[in-house]
Amino acid sequence: MELQSLRLKRHEERRLLGGHLWIFSNEVDTQETPLSMYKAGEQVRVQAHNGKLLGTAYVNPQSLICARLISRDEAVLNHALLVHRCEQALRLRTQLFDEPYYRLIYGESDLLPGLVVDRFGTHLSVQLNSAGMDTNRTQVIEALKQVIEPQSIVLRNDSSIRTLEGLPREVEVAWGKAPEVVELRENGIPLLAPLQGGQKTGWFYDQRPNRAMLRRFVPGKRVLDVFSYVGGFAVQAAVFGARQVVAVDSSRPALEMAEKNAELNGVGKIFNGIEGDAFAVLRQLKAEEERFDIIVVDPPAFIKRKKDHKEGLRAYHRINELAMQLLQPNGILLAASCSMHLAREELQDVLRNAGQRQDRHVQILMEGMQGPDHPVHPAIPETRYLKAFLARVSKR
Ligand code: SAH
Repeated sequence: MELQSLRLKRHEERRLLGGHLWIFSNEVDTQETPLSMYKAGEQVRVQAHNGKLLGTAYVNPQSLICARLISRDEAVLNHALLVHRCEQALRLRTQLFDEPYYRLIYGESDLLPGLVVDRFGTHLSVQLNSAGMDTNRTQVIEALKQVIEPQSIVLRNDSSIRTLEGLPREVEVAWGKAPEVVELRENGIPLLAPLQGGQKTGWFYDQRPNRAMLRRFVPGKRVLDVFSYVGGFAVQAAVFGARQVVAVDSSRPALEMAEKNAELNGVGKIFNGIEGDAFAVLRQLKAEEERFDIIVVDPPAFIKRKKDHKEGLRAYHRINELAMQLLQPNGILLAASCSMHLAREELQDVLRNAGQRQDRHVQILMEGMQGPDHPVHPAIPETRYLKAFLARVSKR
């Protein structure tokens, strides 16, 4: 079937020619090709103002990002292209990891805009985060079935991004028999993750290398994991030889699974969960004069949208300063942020500021980012979102 065209305004092809995949609604020549012409998820030929073909994209007239490129020629998003892109993504992950536990597809960076797939062995957790991917859900599932031959595919279509795309939020099993809980291995350690009831896709693979950074530092130490979720940092720290770990999270089911993860690894006895608001819990621990050798602070994105920047930045300052107050002399603070609107320099400045205010000497020893199964697209800054600093904090 012949695709409709979408024409850009004069000079608005520059970002695409620079490698980017997105078209914003104000870049479209709406005199010539009004966005109301297209259905959400429809594929179009993208043309520069002079008529030159820039590629094929899918459209969402009601989103600020009104189109995302899926090829730089006439290739449309069909079974063959989806299979090819999934195979390319799989090839990278099998090169990176020995075992099938990773982010298999990371949206734009794998040239599959709006599609996220996490793999737990034979189970897949999928997010269709754009109208284009949502429209093509049957084809996406068929391609994943062909490339991975999974036992189950769960659609975790409950992220807030879907609201921006005008899509409903829901969780459904799209294929096979999906368990409630899946097993994975990370940094050599077996762990459990909630496939259907957990947060996001069920597990945060992006922190894998940053969890591994702790290995050197934790033996014999007392560790506090703030915003622990199901214990990614806490349980690995315990297995790496910590003397005691304390995990803080506001979600009881997350803490219950963290405890299960500790038991699974034979470190249940040294694991303690505290349910509550992290800010309040840290203040309470301080009042009780508790101290820790190592503290991990990995909050949810405090800055979800640009307009939350000021308030969110303040929250990063507050929580890291609180953490610093709970550190033993020469303690280690691992401060992370998954807010793409927070620059790495800003997180570094959070540490500087906390050190100044608490009269401590801060030394950043290591810097981490998301793991390589979340590759960065060099033209799309948003694909680089996770920051982590590992710092020593001492008296001065
Ligand atoms: N560190 C985790 C991921 C953290 S995700 C890992 O390595 O897997 C963010 C977590 O923060 C979620 O589990 C959520 O339940 C928790 N959370 C959100 N707001 C909170 C708050 N105010 N106090 C405590 N926990 C909170």
